Amino acid sequence: IRVRCCMAAGCLSSGAVAVKESLEKLTTEARLTDKVEIRSVGCMGLCCQAPLVQVDHLEIQGFTPLLYEKVTPEIASSIVAELQGDEIKVQKGDLNQPFFTKQLPIVLENSGKIDPERIESYIAADGYQALYQVLREMAPAEVVDDITRSGLRGRGGAGYPTGVKWATVAKAKGERKFVICNADEGDPGAFMDRSVLESDPHRVLEGMAIAAYSVGASQGYIYIRAEYPIAINRLQIAIRQAQRLGLLGSNIFDSPFDFKIDIRIGAGAYVCGEETALMASIEGKRGTPRPRPPYPAESGLWGFPTLINNVETYANVPWIIRKGADVFASIGTEKSKGTKVFALAGKIQNTGIIEVPMGTTLRQIVEEMGGGVPDGGTAKAVQTGGPSGGCIPASAFDTPVDYESLSQLGSIMGSGGMIVMDETTNMVDVARFFMEFCMDESCGKCIPCRVGTVQLYQLLTKIHEGKASLTDLELLEELCDMVKHTSLCGLGQSAPNPVFSTLRYFRDEYLTLIK
Ligand code: SF4
Repeated sequence: IRVRCCMAAGCLSSGAVAVKESLEKLTTEARLTDKVEIRSVGCMGLCCQAPLVQVDHLEIQGFTPLLYEKVTPEIASSIVAELQGDEIKVQKGDLNQPFFTKQLPIVLENSGKIDPERIESYIAADGYQALYQVLREMAPAEVVDDITRSGLRGRGGAGYPTGVKWATVAKAKGERKFVICNADEGDPGAFMDRSVLESDPHRVLEGMAIAAYSVGASQGYIYIRAEYPIAINRLQIAIRQAQRLGLLGSNIFDSPFDFKIDIRIGAGAYVCGEETALMASIEGKRGTPRPRPPYPAESGLWGFPTLINNVETYANVPWIIRKGADVFASIGTEKSKGTKVFALAGKIQNTGIIEVPMGTTLRQIVEEMGGGVPDGGTAKAVQTGGPSGGCIPASAFDTPVDYESLSQLGSIMGSGGMIVMDETTNMVDVARFFMEFCMDESCGKCIPCRVGTVQLYQLLTKIHEGKASLTDLELLEELCDMVKHTSLCGLGQSAPNPVFSTLRYFRDEYLTLIK
């Protein structure tokens, strides 16, 4: 019997350590240790029911695991009583609900199953098999071809074709090349990358190693925000374990390929998620963006060709190599292949992490998987893409989620944060919240963003307080346009997006506040 205890941030903050200790103590006292394994695992997804525990009866073929929700040390003792055949029945969670059944785990295939702090657990789940296959059987160009054929696009937000990016870095000339994993996840409401790193860190290391082999890099960096201490700790453990087994370092799998990964911890600036600011930060400089071109693929870290992808993009790579590019390309829509991990937050029943095929509709995500708004409320909009994204109204919930459809609606896929709003949410306040965020996080390097976001925030405050006129509304729109078109980096260029989308779909809410 295997008892899996979720040890990701959501469950840990709800008392998972005490639950696991109780289970260990009670199974020892009941002399069950020879037939019960208590395993620490990563995120099971349904964070709103934390702490979560699953029980697998491996001795029974086809047994559906039992899900225990909001587990306390008292419930743990009932679980152990049940393991001993006791009649006490603890209320179980439903693994057959759409939240679980509509998912298609690729990136999350090991989340909630393996122990993220034990490399043996990852290897037993076919971990590092893709790296072995690549180093033994494939030329670097073949790997790039596979990634191109798979149709994988960058999961950090922009959706740039990953294979094209890899091919550009592979062709670029440079004495050295670098591979960077952008784990500086900072959008309000987004926690997908944190979940992947806490649950399956070796997967990201393996994806980075495969990328490094394909483009000819020998050094990798993971740039991660300091606010993710559990993820950082698990990455450090994973790197040490991989080095010890020769899966990072020199002559990996007895090939001529050498690859090393170091961690760089961000000091909390949101703008360091922008790739040129991120590289400046790794170089030890102040993390501010610079104009592009040159793009990192040609002149990145210390002027050398550099490949930058985010956590989820790398986490897809081992699966694509193991299962085949064509299998990956058969999932999703015509232009958006594979799956997407989303973090569900806000006014929604089932908050947590899900992974769905591209093309799943917003309605399926919000109403079926997310269980809709709590207490019978009605969803009014969903905010995707964080401060760079927009608010999509409920009338557009039948839209399939892919890069193009969300952009047509005035939002973006972004990295995967989804915040659901109900009828009580005022959309002017939403726009104001995101503008305040951008104003605070503006690095101040260029005037349109440094001054423009302050002006926009003040105008939105004036509207919110009922002191604005129609002229102020016109000024708001004009200024949004200016900030969008003249700011130096993506932060400023996209800062007006929440205003644009709320004006497009909820203009009435602005007008009712205008004098
Ligand atoms: Fe800095 Fe904003 Fe200009 Fe980007 S747009 S460089 S964040 S001031």
